Amino acid sequence: MAFVTEPPRQTPVVHQTDVLVVGSGPGGLAAALAAARCGVDVTLVERFGCFGGNITVVGVEGFAWYRHEKTVEAGGIGWEFEQRAKAMGAAVPESQSLSYELDSEGFKVVADALVEEAGIHPMLHRQFVAPLMDGDTVTGVIVESKNGREAIRAKRVIDATGDADIAHRAGAPTVKTPVEDMQGASVMFHLAGVNKQAFMESVKADPQTYADWSTGEWQVETSGKEDDMYSPFLKKPFQQAIEDGLIPANLNTIAGTWGAVHDSGEMTYMNLVHLAGCDGTDADSMTRYEIEGRRQAMLAVEALRRYMLGGEGVRLRNFGMSIGIRDTRKIDALYNVSETDVREQGRFDDSIGIYPEFIDGYGVLILPTTGRYMQIPYRCMLPRGVNNLLVAGRAIGGDRIAHAATRNMACCAVVGQGAGVAAALSISQNRRLQDIDIVPVQTELERQNVRLH
Ligand SMILES: Cc1cc2nc3c(=O)[nH]c(=O)nc-3n(C[C@H](O)[C@H](O)[C@H](O)COP(=O)(O)OP(=O)(O)OC[C@H]3O[C@@H](n4cnc5c(N)ncnc54)[C@H](O)[C@@H]3O)c2cc1C
Repeated sequence: MAFVTEPPRQTPVVHQTDVLVVGSGPGGLAAALAAARCGVDVTLVERFGCFGGNITVVGVEGFAWYRHEKTVEAGGIGWEFEQRAKAMGAAVPESQSLSYELDSEGFKVVADALVEEAGIHPMLHRQFVAPLMDGDTVTGVIVESKNGREAIRAKRVIDATGDADIAHRAGAPTVKTPVEDMQGASVMFHLAGVNKQAFMESVKADPQTYADWSTGEWQVETSGKEDDMYSPFLKKPFQQAIEDGLIPANLNTIAGTWGAVHDSGEMTYMNLVHLAGCDGTDADSMTRYEIEGRRQAMLAVEALRRYMLGGEGVRLRNFGMSIGIRDTRKIDALYNVSETDVREQGRFDDSIGIYPEFIDGYGVLILPTTGRYMQIPYRCMLPRGVNNLLVAGRAIGGDRIAHAATRNMACCAVVGQGAGVAAALSISQNRRLQDIDIVPVQTELERQNVRLH
């Protein structure tokens, strides 16, 4: 490979803050809100033009579709996301659970309101490109935008990029699932023109279940109790489309769940395109799969138009702003959450919140229908070898099956809230993040309505 040598340059320091959060998905947004509620200065940097991460950027609307009567969970800011969205007309009842499905467009406005009310300094349209380091200590970040290259200094930094971008560039060890084993990426889309009444009658006449997820090459292990439960799953129109030659036989991965269907004929959160082999840390790979995903999505739309009851008038309303990536780097944390922890109700002295026994990924589906839950240890967001940095969201330390639980948005919000409080209190305690006194952190989290035990 050829290289060019860039000249040294002076980069302006455009902002200083106490806690800097980079990335505004469920992890980063919760982290910024939690830190701000501790009374420190907080800045939230995001590469796109809206807060919300996968919710608003990709169109992932199923925030708590796991919730059933006996589900026990942390509450806190994740609960607030749902309640606030409902109050602002940006959520509807979710079809398979006791939860609300977020409206991916409306949540942009919900997030704006939450950020503004908390007094967080917003910095949209800025992409993190490099950490500022003093030895092993992160002292801020370099961002790039229409303004060019800018520096932001911070007392503590929270990496909520989902991909551990800051931890990785700061030299902390990270692990990445081999690309052939990564969870598939998805190009998500929303539809218009559905005849709701006809569609819902067809769902009632032929309800699908979680057992239906296991068809062909896609095998999903449940605990048995999930098998007969209703799932908003769509497969038959695509099987028919393959039989009729509309969809090539090798695209038998087109299938999945729908989110909400509205009286207006909109059908949202169409999670139907699954792309194996996409590396979400490689822009060339993402370029290829964005284009391939849109091609597959249009085949799916045509199949729904022809073979789904109520689908005759269907048309594409919009794609998510970006391909949806489920699985990239995870930090090697001071404690890496294990499969045993998520399957056997892990308990930790440094718990920063609980998460119900919900595992969804790598071919496993377990729903929290029994009241079982795990605690989440503070140490799983502390990268090794780097100071002043916490990682919140789906890049925390853990093995594959642990990640199938902790990657879920409500869990990312629990982790984010813990990270935000810890970052803020480590400043007032004047301690390194590794040496923080966890008891005041837990007390503050309880004050912020988080269940810890
Ligand atoms: C298609 C799909 C369907 C899913 N379905 C569900 C579901 O039904 N329920 C569920 O709970 N979970 C679901 N998930 C998983 C869930 O959406 C993610 O694991 C979760 O959103 C991760 O949260 P996060 O805060 O870590 O990161 P993200 O939500 O990915 O947010 C990261 C944010 O950081 C920003 N960012 C990234 N890099 C930079 C940078 N260098 N500089 C500045 N900003 C940056 C991004 O733009 C983004 O806003 C799904 C995921 C996908 C892809």
